[in-house]
Amino acid sequence: MPGRIRAEDITAVKERTSIEDVVRDHVTLRPAGVGSLKGLCPFHDEKTPSFTVRPSVGSYHCFGCGEGGDVISFVQQVEHLTFTEAVERLAAKAGMELRYEEGGGPRERGTSLGKRQRLLEAHRVAEELYTQILLDQGRADARTGRDFLRERGFDSAAVERFGVGFAPQDGEALTRHLLERGFTDDELVAGGLSGRGSRGLYDRFRGRLVWPIRDTTGDTVGFGARRLFEEDRIAAKYLNTAETPIYRKSHVLYGLDLAKKAISTERQAVVVEGYTDVMAAHLAGVETAVATCGTAFGVDHIKILRRIMRDEADLAPAKVVFTFDGDAAGQKAAMKAFGEDQRWAAQSFVAVAPDGMDPCDLRLAKGDAEVRALVDRAVPMFEFAVRTTIDRFDLDTAEGRVQAMKAVAPIVGSIRDASLRPEYTRTVSGWLGVEVEQMATEVRRAGRLAPQGDGDRPGPVSTDEVPEPVAGETPALPAPDLRDPVVRTERQLLQALIQHPQQLPEAAVDSIPADAFTAPAHRAVFDGIRIAAASGARVGSAAAWVAAVGEATPLGVRGLVAELSVDPLPVRYDPTSGLPPQRYLDALVAGVRDAHLGRRIADATASLRRAENDPASGSGLVNELRTSLQALEIERVRLRERVS
Ligand SMILES: [Zn+2]
Repeated sequence: MPGRIRAEDITAVKERTSIEDVVRDHVTLRPAGVGSLKGLCPFHDEKTPSFTVRPSVGSYHCFGCGEGGDVISFVQQVEHLTFTEAVERLAAKAGMELRYEEGGGPRERGTSLGKRQRLLEAHRVAEELYTQILLDQGRADARTGRDFLRERGFDSAAVERFGVGFAPQDGEALTRHLLERGFTDDELVAGGLSGRGSRGLYDRFRGRLVWPIRDTTGDTVGFGARRLFEEDRIAAKYLNTAETPIYRKSHVLYGLDLAKKAISTERQAVVVEGYTDVMAAHLAGVETAVATCGTAFGVDHIKILRRIMRDEADLAPAKVVFTFDGDAAGQKAAMKAFGEDQRWAAQSFVAVAPDGMDPCDLRLAKGDAEVRALVDRAVPMFEFAVRTTIDRFDLDTAEGRVQAMKAVAPIVGSIRDASLRPEYTRTVSGWLGVEVEQMATEVRRAGRLAPQGDGDRPGPVSTDEVPEPVAGETPALPAPDLRDPVVRTERQLLQALIQHPQQLPEAAVDSIPADAFTAPAHRAVFDGIRIAAASGARVGSAAAWVAAVGEATPLGVRGLVAELSVDPLPVRYDPTSGLPPQRYLDALVAGVRDAHLGRRIADATASLRRAENDPASGSGLVNELRTSLQALEIERVRLRERVS
């Protein structure tokens, strides 16, 4: 057992260590009165800084939670270390060798270091070896790694800046190297550097490029490793250090050691998805870029960034930009942030590159400026979540708009700050081109349906999908909904067209647009009618006409044609001729055309509203849409005049 650290060495460590520098590794501080500094407390959640450091006396105190002490207790608390471990850590940082009260001969000193400090040292040695191997021009296997980096636009200066290395393929090089340096089997396994197999220890990372993952103080605590070779028996593209006494993936952000300063001064962080993206972003001038290591961005990451960004209540909100490759996973992450932390969601932004390129690809293809522009163009997380949901629907149709509204309503409804909801409702109704009141009703409905409590909020509601027609098969069309008066009029017109072709001249049929019928089954029957009419069947017998219409319609709706051909019209027939009144039939044609025009007007109004709400659309487009809307309205007025 190592003895106690000599008292005078402990004093020396405190003297040679600046508490301000040590605290600044975790908290951004600002001056607060003579001789003191303030920041957000790392030991409790707060929005107004009450954590105070007095460098001249070497102490800290939090007026919020009461924690306080000297630099050693700070390191103990913030990094969860024992007293001895904290002193050893600070001594190592200050380049001091510690002396122990007993058993502290120079031979044993190496092993007398605390376990954590030993693991950090092992990582330092490992990183050194990995880098050396990568840069060894004589090594063929390392060349694959160098090629990989060069192809992604990283020169040797970049490799050095980020400490990238290469874990050799032979599988034992690092283990041998560390054992020679006096590290034990247990230490290598505990640190996640070696695995224990039936034939002894083997290197955890083999034949992979490795990135050192560092804590905020700059010490390497783990590695991320990328697959390079086909024969790599581990299929995973990226392999990260597993949880160890010094590495907790939920608490580390790759690149934070390099980005910390810029994050603190710019009060902005950019979260990218991989090691090469962090490198590319920094090299492109986005020095606030970090990435999670093999885990999703979580609440602990939020806490770390908040303290560094000084996310304080009386300052303008700090900003976090997520770069997603525009896929479903990215959207899911965005939605998750919404459910978890509203304040956080409000200051989160999303940047999606055109073609879904990640920052590394973007820098290669379009250069540094484009990477910076990507970050500058980031849109609020809320807008991203809503827009990606809306994109799944066809807003040019009334059904599409209704479905989009239903899908988006839960997102708007999830905004817990009730004072913000009306504003968002108005914004979203503008994007959709629907009435604000309609949207508000949908949001209220979504709110009633939402589960209570803090359970998982359901994602965007999936839409009822109409099955895709399969070649050679007749799709089953949904039965027309006869509760809808428009659908009822459609049905009566079809009945009239089938039962009384002689009363509805060809011109009348031609005046009905092909898409005038809303029910898909009705549309299919009308298609059959037009096909049969074009073949001249209207001039034949009533029975021949019905048969021709039936033949011209898909198998799935022939039953409906038969039904329509016998179902009497809901009108008083002329007692002498036995026919329905002509006025009634003309009104059916006009009714269906009127409803169709009404839908086109609604669509045109929605397009116009969206264009007016979109700063990107020019006045030319707005005027064009306004003109075509007017034309439709005039057409409807004329139609109605003719009927009356
Ligand atoms: Zn506190």
